Amino acid sequence: MAARTIDGKAVAAAVRERVRVDVADYEEEAGRTPTLATVIVGDDPASEIYVRNKHRACEDVGMRSVHHGLAAATSQEELLELVRALGEDDEVDGILVQLPVPAHIDSDAVVGALDPRKDVDGLTPANAGLLAHGTPGLVPCTPAGVMELLAHEGVELEGTEAVVVGRSKLVGVPVARLLLAANATVTVCHSRTRDLAATCSRADVLVAAVGVPRLLGADAVKPGAVVIDVGMNRTDDGLCGDVDFEAAAEVAAALTPVPGGVGPMTIAMLLVNTLQAARGRTTAAPA
Ligand code: NAP
Repeated sequence: MAARTIDGKAVAAAVRERVRVDVADYEEEAGRTPTLATVIVGDDPASEIYVRNKHRACEDVGMRSVHHGLAAATSQEELLELVRALGEDDEVDGILVQLPVPAHIDSDAVVGALDPRKDVDGLTPANAGLLAHGTPGLVPCTPAGVMELLAHEGVELEGTEAVVVGRSKLVGVPVARLLLAANATVTVCHSRTRDLAATCSRADVLVAAVGVPRLLGADAVKPGAVVIDVGMNRTDDGLCGDVDFEAAAEVAAALTPVPGGVGPMTIAMLLVNTLQAARGRTTAAPA
């Protein structure tokens, strides 16, 4: 059986189109343009590419973006000062500090200094807490993108068995919480899970967010499952996911490719979050 390939690029394009229309409406109502501020410390080439793509995406939907490139030797206090200043800047709706930061900076301290209302990566304890509480604020972009793909595929999550592989604060845990909120029965696997393939093979919906090339093969996939591969692994043969795509496609009903699956959704959901942050700040009473 050849599974359906879930086209993340097409779904992301549809989300971006929706945001473009909503940005125009927002500008008419609020008389200003939603604005994303990005910060990079150091000159990591991958971070430069990610952030450049985020700026292009903003421009494409009519949002403003401003960039702060800081030297690798920037002190933690200097970075915290900038993050706090952006938090107080009325022109800025979303703040994104591209991780990783250099080793002498404590990333938890940086995330902790973000104004939760502008935390478009959804990483602050306040936004993680709101998600855990069942009243989401700003949700991390990649998990939000996973849910958007499932919705687009018309997957009815209520009562299904969902397995998430990975328990990071950025991906695994928030995906699990979102699936639970959608009334799936959720199992979270990690590096100490005993029989990973057997646990995964129970899943109607399988989400892999591990960072190990092609970790999950056909034996980890239930016949007819929907498989979402978040993994982005650089190998000698190029970029690949955590799922062995060819093997899984023989068993699954639908699955995402890498690249072209979850990746494009992350940037699209960043735009959604930036607009949501702008609306939240201009319509809600200050916290
Ligand atoms: P992470 O923080 O390194 O977390 C990886 C998780 O996988 C951990 O919970 C770890 O378990 C678990 N794990 C590691 N080896 C395992 C194994 N052999 N069996 C079962 N579980 C295992 O990574 P992350 O930030 O969540 O990212 C995961 C992947 O998604 C990476 O490939 C990353 O590049 C990709 N990603 C893609 C996007 C996108 O836009 N497409 C966005 C973010 C991340 P422990 O907790 O026990 O250590």
